[in-house]
Amino acid sequence: MNCIFCKIIQGDIPSQKVYEDDLVMAFHDISPQAPVHILIIPKEHYSNILEVEESQKELIGHIFMIAKKIAREMGIHEKGFRIVMNCNRDGGQTVFHLHFHLLAGRQMHWPPG
Ligand code: AMP
Ligand code: ZN
Repeated sequence: MNCIFCKIIQGDIPSQKVYEDDLVMAFHDISPQAPVHILIIPKEHYSNILEVEESQKELIGHIFMIAKKIAREMGIHEKGFRIVMNCNRDGGQTVFHLHFHLLAGRQMHWPPG
């Protein structure tokens, strides 16, 4: 499959890894939109959240627990952070391997663009 994030998981494309376990991987976004911009992705390929079934819902909980762990380790938890997941065209998704953006290090704005 020609998926850039699957290639990152396989090590065929380099990344700045910050976390890895059996289920997920986290690495720095190549085009950071904030001082901290990390992507957290499942190792299994899902094009987006629409492909995640009821039986795999624990994976999403796990990803949020890992986001929290990374936020603590990076010392961004007290000031705060934002987790973003874009789905399909109107959501602004550009890479079709499910991923969650962990953004921090500056004031976030609302509503998002
Ligand atoms: P989205 O627009 O939600 O699909 O986000 C895709 C994200 O992947 C963007 O923030 C890109 O900057 C990021 N990205 C694309 N290619 C790479 C790469 N090779 N390494 C790290 N991040 C990447
Ligand atoms: Zn993939």
